[in-house]
Amino acid sequence: MASGNEEERSARGHHGDKIIEIDYVELKNGEDRALVRRKKRRRRQKVKPALIILLVAVIAAILVAVLILGSVSKDAAGREKDAGSTGASAAADGDAGDSGAAGTQEDDGEDGDADTADAKPYYYNPEREGRYAAFADAHPEIGMEDVYWMVDCDLDVAPYEDTHPLPDPNDILLMVNKHFYLPDGFAPTDLVPVGNTMMRAEAGAAMQEMIDAAAAEGLNLWSQSGYRSYGVQVNLYADYSAQGGVEGADTHSARPGYSEHQTGLTTDLNTITDAFGDTAEGKWVAENCWQYGYIVRYTKENTDVTLYKPEPWHMRYIGRDAAKVMHDEGILSLEEYWVKYVLYQPPETSAAGAGVG
Ligand SMILES: [Zn+2]
Repeated sequence: MASGNEEERSARGHHGDKIIEIDYVELKNGEDRALVRRKKRRRRQKVKPALIILLVAVIAAILVAVLILGSVSKDAAGREKDAGSTGASAAADGDAGDSGAAGTQEDDGEDGDADTADAKPYYYNPEREGRYAAFADAHPEIGMEDVYWMVDCDLDVAPYEDTHPLPDPNDILLMVNKHFYLPDGFAPTDLVPVGNTMMRAEAGAAMQEMIDAAAAEGLNLWSQSGYRSYGVQVNLYADYSAQGGVEGADTHSARPGYSEHQTGLTTDLNTITDAFGDTAEGKWVAENCWQYGYIVRYTKENTDVTLYKPEPWHMRYIGRDAAKVMHDEGILSLEEYWVKYVLYQPPETSAAGAGVG
């Protein structure tokens, strides 16, 4: 008997809707018909409130359905209106067609996110979504558009941690910083003299042009410290860190392999002092160097990105086209340019627009 009850209970556990049937079985085998009637009556009484609840539920469901239909048709009208502009901007962006269509489908359920989803720039990489979010959380003062390119060039990673070797150390547009370094033993093969220093041929010719143009305006520029080999940088960095500790040295001196001077595309002008920025020469360079394919690599506007103190004397050659884009677009660091024009390329139409401007 006891074991029989146990079996029935376990059956109930698995099939909750068989309670009635099981009760009958139990009672046919057993003892009390009055109990059957009582149970039946209790069940019948339960049916009435259940019916009322069902009716209320049906009415509520109809009301909800009416409300939903109303808002859906409103949505549909809105979406048709948006479709025109979405199509136009997708065409303008060139390759945005696919993501635009996916975005529209995803947005059907949630009205609020539509705008942010559409605002993702072309250098947004969905694989880095977690890193973008973490960096944005840690830096609420930085706008999302900047968060994307900053994470794209590893600014969410501590300097000198998880660093990457540069695949092509001869690329004029390479980006050497505290995250990207030159391959071991790299030395440029086309060095030419500029004054008492050496630079790669293309960069050296452009630097000489700039020095001559400044001279024509009565300004005296000279190349003071150009190409430095890996070995020279080893000694230089060792001296600086012996004097001011590693932390102090890192604010103004690159670790070996991480120095732009090893590329042959860089030189330090004149006195190599902060005061240079306030001289007529320093001001002229800041204003005009882009016309010769140069940038002032470390400025007070980009310290948070380069992680170096401002160096108004440190010139980096990137070529005239790139320097013009940075100048015209107001791009303040090579890091930002590198993400937006080297790692990713802007959609064709806006690149043409940049060329016109
Ligand atoms: Zn320098």
